[in-house]
Amino acid sequence: KDFRNDVRPNWCPGCGDFAVQASIQRALAAMGKEPHEVAIVSGIGCSGRISGYINTYGFHGVHGRALPAAQGLKLANRNLTVIAAGGDGDGFGIGLNHFMHAVRRNMDITYIVMDNQIYGLTKGQHSPTSAKGFTAKTTPEGNIEHALVPSQIALAAGIGFLAQGFSSDVNQLVSLIQQAVEYKGFALINVFSPCVTYNKINTYDFFREHITNLDQVEGYDPTDRAMAMKTVIETGGLCTGLIYKDESRVAYEDQIPGYRETPILEADLRLDPAVFDSFVKEFA
Ligand code: SF4
Repeated sequence: KDFRNDVRPNWCPGCGDFAVQASIQRALAAMGKEPHEVAIVSGIGCSGRISGYINTYGFHGVHGRALPAAQGLKLANRNLTVIAAGGDGDGFGIGLNHFMHAVRRNMDITYIVMDNQIYGLTKGQHSPTSAKGFTAKTTPEGNIEHALVPSQIALAAGIGFLAQGFSSDVNQLVSLIQQAVEYKGFALINVFSPCVTYNKINTYDFFREHITNLDQVEGYDPTDRAMAMKTVIETGGLCTGLIYKDESRVAYEDQIPGYRETPILEADLRLDPAVFDSFVKEFA
């Protein structure tokens, strides 16, 4: 299956988002998905363009609102593989409220965040995940706010599947995307995806130096929530791999009695004329 299309990304050379795009394409192909079986919904930001760069259904929505649109899509057609995607500003700034409720609701969606700790599209302002002391155009004397740590927030909110990747490790990211898509429930993959143009602090080398790869940590058990929470606190969130997975959670749509198996698109929604007539008479 070919998930490439003819659109040439206009990301800067070296942007981490290229690796995320390639990883999604590779993961979907490896899973034997067809392009028409997948929808990618994105918000606003450099990373938000990704929905136009992969040969699937795509919806490039508004800032911070990828998750509500993705959830609507999943409710309308449970047979679609729905992937929401965006950046740290999009998902953890304006979209944070939607993220918390998506975790709580637990619909069968994969959310991929390209976390570069800065607003790239608007040319380099600090973001919710920028570290304290981080310097940018908006924080020339250093950021005075604490960073939001997505993995800690997600675990605290009760997420059932949590992973983190790094744009420099495509093989791991492909595997994580496959696991997240296969997971029956809401799955977050937060990807350290460097912005080479505006973030001169959180570079590829920075992440290589600071990340703990949980795939290489002997005895790490991703089914142990307490261990996961301890790990994301001790690493300050700078860890990659499968952090936590809870197989016992039931997806939102699997808890709705009589929830439609047939997508709205294929369902016969015509009303019986006799029923329609009696309805009209009742309200005439
Ligand atoms: Fe990527 Fe940064 Fe360029 Fe945006 S500005 S495309 S995030 S490198």
